[in-house]
Amino acid sequence: MNKDIIFLNPVCTHNIWGGTRLNREFGYSIEGDDIGECWGISAHPSGDDTVRNGAFQGMKLSELWEKHPELFGNTGMDRFPLLVKIIDAKDDLSIQVHPDDAYAKVHENGSLGKTECWFILDCKENATLVVGHNAKTREELEQMIQEGKWKKFIREIPIKPGDFIQIDPGTVHAIKGGTLLLETQQSSDITYRVYDYDRKWNGKLRELHVKQSLDVIKTPFQPAKDQRSITHTEGADLEHLETCPYYTVEKYDIHGTWDHVFEAGFVNASVIEGEGSINGRKIKKGDHFIIPADFGTCSFEGNLSLICSWV
Ligand code: ZN
Repeated sequence: MNKDIIFLNPVCTHNIWGGTRLNREFGYSIEGDDIGECWGISAHPSGDDTVRNGAFQGMKLSELWEKHPELFGNTGMDRFPLLVKIIDAKDDLSIQVHPDDAYAKVHENGSLGKTECWFILDCKENATLVVGHNAKTREELEQMIQEGKWKKFIREIPIKPGDFIQIDPGTVHAIKGGTLLLETQQSSDITYRVYDYDRKWNGKLRELHVKQSLDVIKTPFQPAKDQRSITHTEGADLEHLETCPYYTVEKYDIHGTWDHVFEAGFVNASVIEGEGSINGRKIKKGDHFIIPADFGTCSFEGNLSLICSWV
């Protein structure tokens, strides 16, 4: 069985709110000043990554998932379950909400729902994000949305680089301009736009999804519990960020040499800072790869930070 580490060629997207940091700072080969997202680990039909190396070079990740389930630990899942993105928001994104699996299955043609989480890579001083809302009851929620009482409705939280935020389905949220983050999410692109600041893009307002939003927004808002904990070892600092029904996310700050055996099945890994190597193969900021199930020992060297996830 081929147990090479699976490096991926990301798919990057043009977005009206995107910028230039993904090509300038991360070196992704895409032209433009409106690059909003790098789908670093994705087998989603809207952005299916290709394998960069080894026996499966050139194959789409979705095809690899179907043809070689053993690489992923024979999960029995009907599709690659996660999607890891880096997002560069030059402008504010619209205020939005995602459905859960049950709602998406019925209303979105069998799609997965979307639970997501954000690790803040960079942001402006005194930056904020929209997470949650201030309506206490369903009546108040409907009234605030129908009457456009956005100032009252929207709940903002201060952020700084290194913060981590879990966004459960039904949570109103928005990334604000100047924020660079890594998102780990269920493999879904179902988004309901609640409000877009009445902005016109190329002369047009974007479509809102008020009915679906009212269907799925949870009221009252309850913030997710902070699960962060750090373990310091000689070669690395290991930080647990989140475990929810869909994924576990951890961060590793490696300094020097660090050997590690992942107990999970397959592991998604993204280098968010620095450079070094894994089992002799060079890795650097912006690289995304999958460590196959039962891979054995990963020997890391260098000064680098990784965000990893698994199901
Ligand atoms: Zn979202």
